[in-house]
Amino acid sequence: MESNVTSTDGSRAYGVGTRTDVGSRRTRNEDFFSVAETKHGLLVVVCDGMGGHAGGERASRLAVQEFNAAIDANDDDARAMFERAVARANEAVYRESTQNADTAGMGTTLVAALVRAGRALVVNVGDSRAYRWHANRLERISLDHSVVEELVAAGRITAEQARVHPQRNIITRALGTSASVQPDLFEVEIGPGDGLLLATDGLHGMIADDVIEDILRRRALPDAACDELVAAALAAGGDDNVTVALVRSGEDAAIAAASATTDPVRAGDAPRTRRNGAAWLWVVLTLAAAATAWVLLVARPWERADNLAPTNPTPTIAIDTTLSGLDSILLDSTAQATPYDLLRGDSVRATMPIDTLLGSDSAAYRARDTAPRGDVVTGRR
Ligand code: CA
Repeated sequence: MESNVTSTDGSRAYGVGTRTDVGSRRTRNEDFFSVAETKHGLLVVVCDGMGGHAGGERASRLAVQEFNAAIDANDDDARAMFERAVARANEAVYRESTQNADTAGMGTTLVAALVRAGRALVVNVGDSRAYRWHANRLERISLDHSVVEELVAAGRITAEQARVHPQRNIITRALGTSASVQPDLFEVEIGPGDGLLLATDGLHGMIADDVIEDILRRRALPDAACDELVAAALAAGGDDNVTVALVRSGEDAAIAAASATTDPVRAGDAPRTRRNGAAWLWVVLTLAAAATAWVLLVARPWERADNLAPTNPTPTIAIDTTLSGLDSILLDSTAQATPYDLLRGDSVRATMPIDTLLGSDSAAYRARDTAPRGDVVTGRR
């Protein structure tokens, strides 16, 4: 297979890895995410839903759908577009929450990034996080809207204490719990070799940032990094659903080749990368490495269909930043999944009883005593 990730004008390419897992203690995966190539750039969205019964799953899915639809519909400046997309997602979840008894009181976090031409615009509500990988170090981009983050900011506890704090699951902002919500926006450079990691608290609640950093340092391939991040969260207990999405900026042939080999839709769409020196040897070695990587990281013949929608075996995609061929996002049916569709993990690992919300007060989520790391949000904003 040919590399398809370098455009004719030499602009940068991105590799994307994703992984989600229900974890070891939950019966439902209330996380939801999407990766899409839009007319504005590569769009990655990660949401962590909350609510009893089907509420959490519904909230995160609805928020991802509405956010994506708003990005597709708008074409003015990116920050305003993100703010409107958050408002639209919030309104949709809030409306359904207040009109449907089955999903009353549901809500969701959201962290999203739009990556184009070496820059990323990031937005977040709640405690799902965005990190940048830069200069061989992990950097936090977003600030959690959570009680413990405020305690850390006030110098009253350390980040390490926050991870085990009894109030660690209380978030102070969420989508869908009030008529309006204030998101935070950030802009960062994503230069050659840099990365952007979006994750739910099932990752950073289970493993420390220096463990995440160590994995990203050792795993250049986005999909391999995502696999190891989730494996580490599970090894640490897997108390919560865990979802990670990692964008790595190109220039790295291994990233490019591994990404290209998992992208049947776009394979061959773009011209090949020019290489200096022993081009043929390079191509042969790269293809061999890519094929091996594909078998090890993607095909995984020994663990079929456990963690990915069965119609979507290709969680890693390669994005051409010329963005010439716009792929619409098939939001409504995972049965039509392509590499740009919504992806969802529904692994069957969990054995814990279904989480329940205590009480019926839709104004406040309360801790679920059946789930040690149940997500909660307090109060209306
Ligand atoms: Ca969570």
